[in-house]
Parts: sequence; structure tokens; C-alpha cells
Amino acid sequence: MKPIVAIVGRPNVGKSTLFNKLVGDRVAIVDDQPGVTRDRLYRETEWNGKEFVLVDTGGLEPRNNDFMMTKIKQQAEVAMNEADVILFVVDGKGGLNPLDEEISYILRKKNKPVVLCVNKIDNFLSQQDDIYDFWGLGFEHLVAISGEHKVNLGDMLDMVVDLIDQVDTHEEVEDGLKIAIIGRPNAGKSSLVNRLSGEERTIVSDIAGTTRDAIDTLIEFDGNKYLLIDTAGIRRKSKIEESLEYYSVLRAIKTIKRADVCLWMLDGSEGLTEQDKRIAGIAFEEKKPIIIVINKWDAVPNKDGKTMKKMREELYAELPFLSYAPIEFVSALTGQRTTKLLEHAEMIFAEYNKRISTGLLNTVIKEAVIMNNPPTRKGRVVKVNYATQISTAPPRFVLFCNYPELIHFSYSRYIENKLREAFGFEGSPIDIIFEKKHD
Ligand code: GDP
Ligand code: GDP
Repeated sequence: MKPIVAIVGRPNVGKSTLFNKLVGDRVAIVDDQPGVTRDRLYRETEWNGKEFVLVDTGGLEPRNNDFMMTKIKQQAEVAMNEADVILFVVDGKGGLNPLDEEISYILRKKNKPVVLCVNKIDNFLSQQDDIYDFWGLGFEHLVAISGEHKVNLGDMLDMVVDLIDQVDTHEEVEDGLKIAIIGRPNAGKSSLVNRLSGEERTIVSDIAGTTRDAIDTLIEFDGNKYLLIDTAGIRRKSKIEESLEYYSVLRAIKTIKRADVCLWMLDGSEGLTEQDKRIAGIAFEEKKPIIIVINKWDAVPNKDGKTMKKMREELYAELPFLSYAPIEFVSALTGQRTTKLLEHAEMIFAEYNKRISTGLLNTVIKEAVIMNNPPTRKGRVVKVNYATQISTAPPRFVLFCNYPELIHFSYSRYIENKLREAFGFEGSPIDIIFEKKHD
């Protein structure tokens, strides 16, 4: 998985500015689907071919000093635990601040690599003296930068990439389907893991070292192995972590990236929250197969024959971008339908990896286009010539046509629905790309 680089520091040192300069140029505008809650806190980026995820931990409102102190310390703690490399930003113009020392103290406690970025050095020659004090913080890697004016950011990124190369973010070797169990605190994630591992009473082992501090559980069911990953609840969670929004985001990103399939857990006895949507938005953006798991089914009052249908409809109405994700109703407490989740995960992973023959694909596309032609505009008629599946996991289709720029999101959606009608792809996202036909 891609390493995580977190930007930390007290307010006003220039963290957000730096973040934006580093990713700003490449913030891809993905088609804005209704209902997707996107997180602006993290972005994938790369330097010299090395890809990583940059996280801005900012967003702290300066209030009184005590409050600030606590929050900033918490932020540093979390970065320590979750990031692979830390960019610790200080204000070179404003000079050393007691808060910087507090943060340093926390960052030095573990030996995560830290790059100390002395920011706002817009003019190195005249500001050289401003830098020296910061060596006193005791970090080996120090670089003077100006985020705003993009000075020395290349040197800084070189350091980051060197440090990334030194930490091993090795790929895992375990076999078995990797299932991420995601969702906000108290949805019942750890209960589900306990249920699945306990009930089957086969191999329950905590595999240490796969990621720095997540505990994975390997289970076996019906002769198949499954790796249940990042069950935040199993790991002791501190109050600090729960209180931090981006902590849950960071964890979700890490988990989702490692997974083959995501089980997104919701508490059936409560409504959908913004945090829920944010987590779903990440899984959606990462293009992973998803099963929506409505937990605590046992606690849903006054159920009747229509409850499931009604809840399904409401959920899809709120999350139209996840309409391909099946919904399961379970109780981690009683074990109702929980093992079915494993079979279902296996199934949607197969869908995610499915390949459609070009002949069959073109038959379906041709028919779809005949039934509903792409809209003409300004006298131009869009003609779809040929389609092919260029990859799996996620399934990605390219449709060659004369005017790809005239195709609307709604038409793309129409094609997607036709592909799903014909080929299924339950639980799996589908990518459809319209390309210019070259003769
Ligand atoms: P954050 O609170 O750490 O995220 O800080 P911001 O990115 O919001 O920046 C705080 C202030 O510092 C803003 O007024 C920025 O314009 C300014 N600033 C950020 N980077 C630089 C820089 O490289 N040089 C100078 N002179 N000012 C900067
Ligand atoms: P996590 O934070 O997502 O790991 O959630 P936990 O597994 O710690 O569960 C949070 C709370 O919900 C605990 O009190 C559980 O006992 C309860 N809980 C979990 N699953 C169910 C369920 O299926 N039904 C009911 N009634 N309670 C549940």
C-alpha cells in the first residue's frame, strides 16, 4: 500500500498552504456524483515516481492556549501512530515557539522519520539566521522552505522519498481474501470480527507486523481463508483517537487501500451520519468492491415484512453513488446472517475481477446505443464504434467514439446500467471511459 506522509505543526505555520501547493496541481476533479462526501484532507501524490498519500492534519481553530496545547499534542500522537513519514512544519519567520517544542517532544519519542520544515523562508539569503534555532529541536532532517513561493519543495520531497524508501512498507504475503471492516465507532466492527472468528473456532491469530500497529485476524470458513483487517475496535482505542475526525479518516484510508473487499458497517438502529458518508466516500473513491452491512438488526424495533425494503430504498436514495453495493442486514450480537457476509464478499470479489469478452461486450453496447442514442449536440451526432474491457479490479471499459467530449455523466450512467443488467458486477464499481476513435 502507499505510504502515508502527514503534515503536522501548530496553527498558522503554513500547513494548508504547503498541502495545497504539493497536491494542488493534481487535484483531479472527479465527476461530481450526488451524495459523495469527499475528503479534502488527503490526496495521493507522487514525487520522482514514488507515490504516497499526503495528509493535512490542520483545521484546528486557535482558541485558548490550553486547548490548543492538548489538541496539537493529540494530533502529533496520531500522526506518530499512523503516518510513515512526518512533515513537521514550523514558522521560520515567527521563530521558535513553545508549542513547537511540545510537538518535537512527542515526535521524538518514537523513531518515526521526521522532516523538520522551516517554513516561510521566502528569501534564504536574508533569512539564514532565522533557521538556526530550529536545529535545537533535535531533528536530523531539516529543510528551509517556503510553501507559498514553492522554494526548496523539491529538496524537501527528496528527503521524504528517501525516508519512505527506508521504512519498509512491504506488501503482505498472507493468502486469503482481505476484508476491510470499516465504519464509524460503535457500528459493531469488533463485535463482527469476534463473532466471525469465535464462531468458526478455527485459526484465530493476530498477525503482527503486517502494518505497524493494526491487528489483523485470519479466519477460516468452509475451507476458505479470510483476513479481516483493521478492526479498529480490537485494537485498544484511546479517547484521543476517537475524538479526532481525521484519525478515523486516516485509518479508513489505510484499511481500504489494503483491502480486496470492504464491508461498510452501519448501525441499523441509527441514521446515517456525515462521518458514515465520508467513510463510504473514501471506499467509493478508492474503487473497491463494497457490501453495505446494516448491523444491530436485532435492535431495530417494529420490524415487519417491509422494513428491509424500505431501509434499502432510503439508503440508496441517500447514497446514489453506491447503488451497486448490495445491502446485508445482520446482527453481530446474535450472529444472524454474519457468515453469509463471507460468501458474499467472495462473490463480489469475483465480480470485481470478471472479464467480459469483447464480442459479447460489443453486442450489448450496440444494443444499448440503438435503444438510446447518445444525445446529439449542435448538429453533431455521437457514434460509438467499439468497446473493450481494458482491465479488471475494477472493471474498466473503454468506448471509442467520435466526440467523447459530448458524452454526459447521465449517458455514461445509462451505459453502466446496461452493462450491469447484462453482466452483473454486483458490489463492484465500474469505470467507463469514452475515448476518441483514432482511425
Ligand atoms: P496552517 O494553519 O498551518 O494550515 O497555516 P496556513 O497554510 O493557513 O498559513 C498561515 C499563514 O501563513 C497564511 O497567511 C499564509 O499565507 C502564510 N504562509 C504560508 N506559507 C508561507 C510562506 O512560505 N511564506 C510566507 N511569507 N507566508 C506563508
Ligand atoms: P466498533 O466500535 O465498531 O468496533 O463497535 P463494537 O463492536 O465495539 O460495538 C459497539 C457496541 O454495539 C457494543 O456495545 C456492542 O455490544 C454493540 N453491538 C454490536 N453489534 C451489535 C448487534 O448486532 N446488536 C446489538 N444490539 N448491539 C450490538
